[in-house]
Amino acid sequence: MQRSNRSGEILVIGEIREGTLHSATVELTAKARELADRLGTKVTTLLMYDRVDMNVEDLAWWGADVVLCVVGEPFRYFNQEVYTNVISYLIKGRNPQIVLAPATTSGRTYMPAVAAKVHTGLTADCTGLDIDADTGLLLQTRPAIGGNIMATIQTPNHLPQMATVRPRTFPVPKPNRGRKARVEHPDLPGEVFTSSIEVLGKEHQEGMDVNIQDLDVVVSGGKGLKKAENFNLLRELASLLGGGVGASRAAVDNKWISYPHQVGLSGKVVSPKVYFAVGISGSVQHLAGMQTADFVVAINKDPEAPIFRVADIALCGDLFDIVPRIIEKIKEQ
Ligand code: FAD
Repeated sequence: MQRSNRSGEILVIGEIREGTLHSATVELTAKARELADRLGTKVTTLLMYDRVDMNVEDLAWWGADVVLCVVGEPFRYFNQEVYTNVISYLIKGRNPQIVLAPATTSGRTYMPAVAAKVHTGLTADCTGLDIDADTGLLLQTRPAIGGNIMATIQTPNHLPQMATVRPRTFPVPKPNRGRKARVEHPDLPGEVFTSSIEVLGKEHQEGMDVNIQDLDVVVSGGKGLKKAENFNLLRELASLLGGGVGASRAAVDNKWISYPHQVGLSGKVVSPKVYFAVGISGSVQHLAGMQTADFVVAINKDPEAPIFRVADIALCGDLFDIVPRIIEKIKEQ
């Protein structure tokens, strides 16, 4: 097994938003536990926050051996530079074998910068992780070529091996409440907290309050919706199902709905239990953002629409006829 002079630990970068732990932290910690057991190594989960509404030691229940806490005012708002500095400093000092971070908006922002700082590579947006039984190296699977193939990537010449992983890729196992972790507060030099970015505050933008990546049901609309007001139909359906509204790039480009709702290659990647594609043709770029959904319902008037190839339920017809009927049926129940 290739281990070099590294500690061999798996370092998971956790995410806390306004005091609340992002579920991806638990998913990644549990996956890291599974990988670490095969490598015979430990799992360290790093948390950076100004406040937190949980007992951080509880991450042991999902497999953390060490919970590394860096606490302070600089984490009140997300600051890419501070995240990058802290994570890079800790990687250089701890020499982990593997570093995993969630492919959330912030994870996608700081991890490339961390990779550059610690002179290693990064496999972004993974949907599968495994260990090569011969080399002990991480096998990182992700969609490639616009989502047309799944590529499994090994980076034997670049350590630590680093990957970002799409939220909701891995199931969360039942917590083992008897498990304990050591909580550590590492000493860090003051300069890691210095930044050329000063965050003055946060402004609300339509669509930012709900992150469609975290939802079980996403109802997405495309160019077939024809105008902004027609998205109200999808909002009604989504709200009845306890979900949120997504969109194709064509709908976003037409300014019918804001960018945080865009699903696809240049938007968000979602993995809900149910994904509705309404008036969306199913371009490879759109599929790249939703094809890991458990169940796809497609509504399109074109029987040849490519979206039907990935649909579990294909409803061929006019969306302005079909969607109100679905809403009506749900309301009857
Ligand atoms: P269209 O392809 O125009 O499809 C509209 C569909 O609506 C048609 O299938 C039509 O049959 C159906 N329809 C029309 N009226 C009705 C009706 N009354 N009832 C039922 N069905 C109806 N796209 C994304 O979505 N996300 C991305 O992140 C993304 N990133 C991209 C990145 C790059 C680099 C590039 C080059 C492109 C990207 N695209 C992305 C754009 C992508 O190629 C498509 O142009 C886009 O997905 C098309 O959106 P659409 O399906 O809504 O529109």
